[in-house]
Amino acid sequence: MTEPFPPVGPFSAGVRCRCPRCGVGRLYRGILALNETCDACSLDFRAEDSADGPAFFVMFIIGPVIVVLAVWLELTAHPPIWVHGLLWPPLVTIGAIGLLRPFKATLIALQYRNRSGDGGQGQFGKSE
Ligand SMILES: [Zn+2]
Repeated sequence: MTEPFPPVGPFSAGVRCRCPRCGVGRLYRGILALNETCDACSLDFRAEDSADGPAFFVMFIIGPVIVVLAVWLELTAHPPIWVHGLLWPPLVTIGAIGLLRPFKATLIALQYRNRSGDGGQGQFGKSE
């Protein structure tokens, strides 16, 4: 028996990194590792896999931004090459992790919503 849950927008749940069904439980137990189940509604996250989807989007956002910033810095300030080596790797790492969490959560919420065929309760863990 499942309880009815009010609809949760996939982008709202994704940006807040919350459960796609209840919008309350935390999706992550670590930086990018998913909880096994929702701590609020017990939705099973174990079968959930967003694969490389979030990395694709993050790569195509972070890459051009960093390249434009690096070119701009080079053309305006002409810093020594070690400045680029010291500046950009940490910014890429922090930016990628910062964007991966909401992108992964949003894709999981969209998968949950679009696979849902039972009145919004989702089908995580069920075979097709
Ligand atoms: Zn939940």
